Amino acid sequence: MTSKAMKQMDIGVFFGLKPKPLTTKTEEKVPLRSQTPNAVSSQNARPAQKRKATGSLGDSGGVTENVSGVLVPAASGTQGRGGKRFRQNGTAEEGGRGKKQCPFYKKIPGTGFTVDAFQYGEIEGCAAYFLTHFHSDHYGGLTKKFRFPIYCSKITGNLVQSKLRVEKEFVNCLPMYTECTVNGVKVVLLDANHCPGAVLLLFILPNGTSILHTGDFRAEPSMERYPALLGRKIHTLYLDTTYCSPEYTFPPQQEAVQFAVNAAFEMMTLHPRTLVVCGTYSVGKEKVFLAIADVLGCKVCMSQDKYKTMQCLESDEIRALVTTDWHSTALHVLPMMQVNFKGLNAHLNKFSGRYDRILAFKPTGWTYSEGCGSVADIRPEIRGKVTLYGIPYSEHSSFSEMKRFVQFIKPQKIIPTVNVGNWKSRTTMEKYFAEWLSGPR
Ligand SMILES: [Zn+2]
Repeated sequence: MTSKAMKQMDIGVFFGLKPKPLTTKTEEKVPLRSQTPNAVSSQNARPAQKRKATGSLGDSGGVTENVSGVLVPAASGTQGRGGKRFRQNGTAEEGGRGKKQCPFYKKIPGTGFTVDAFQYGEIEGCAAYFLTHFHSDHYGGLTKKFRFPIYCSKITGNLVQSKLRVEKEFVNCLPMYTECTVNGVKVVLLDANHCPGAVLLLFILPNGTSILHTGDFRAEPSMERYPALLGRKIHTLYLDTTYCSPEYTFPPQQEAVQFAVNAAFEMMTLHPRTLVVCGTYSVGKEKVFLAIADVLGCKVCMSQDKYKTMQCLESDEIRALVTTDWHSTALHVLPMMQVNFKGLNAHLNKFSGRYDRILAFKPTGWTYSEGCGSVADIRPEIRGKVTLYGIPYSEHSSFSEMKRFVQFIKPQKIIPTVNVGNWKSRTTMEKYFAEWLSGPR
């Protein structure tokens, strides 16, 4: 690729950039949440044998907190465990003793709906299984054998059919920003600013009660202009509390993306025989490599599997940018686990006749470093022919973004959906919620 092919975008920023000091490794610290969502689907959970109803959640909001004993860490996938317990219960035994119970915060009171609850087999009284987005800690347990109605966005529906082979007749794709009625309940899907297809779910019950479920989201001020939320009194907010503590600060996504774009542009200009690599999970954080492709004026190459994922995203612009021909472009996407010095050197060796070095980006969530609030603090790690940047690209709200969103919504009640498995973190979160919502209401 020649520099002629590069677009003129951000030239000013590029030339205005401070020289990047070459220093040491940034240390990644896992936040409260147990682990970053892993894109690999877990095979262990499966819908249980059909069991007779011993109680229904459909009526009288029978989904109260009285299922309490089962408050388990939200969204903590059951990868590696749980499968056996399902199997033990494989006989048509009624009680389901020993079987994983759906926790209360995945049920929407008074609706017969569940949200992101696929790892509990058939849930008694559940008439509609909502899926907020296609991350394995949310769809975990969903397989092609699933036989109940799923509701989700078009993109998530495409992914569920394409990647999990769930049969079409069970996948109900709802339009965005449009009031739909599901089993007598009004539902509106709103963009969650998380991964492609991720939605916030607004439920408006026949009695007028409104409930908002954020799924996983990164709050941003534009959400305050969603017509469906304007002037609406929200009774209960089910909140993604992944980073519900003040130390979780990170730059706006656009700044993180721009930083990577500038670094790629600079390196390609100084060293045209550079191969640029971006790490990726199955879905999410695409903006980094798409923006680099845009500024370098090239396509982006990826595995067949990732390519198939990208075809689900309902974007002609994206379809035009992706390829599976590794020799056609100097911008490659690799699985996140391969984005380390060993994996990158191995990759460079495959193309050694063509490239002299690799510039790699690893989009991370929150990363512990001195002043991680700004992209000015980002430092690459350099070993031999490989330059590796961690990019603080979060798809969850920072503490201050979360606070602002909650203060906009002013819910009567907040139910956290992440980091709820531990008494101390629950208590701390409750303290913040009370603080945020105190004062004039
Ligand atoms: Zn997610």
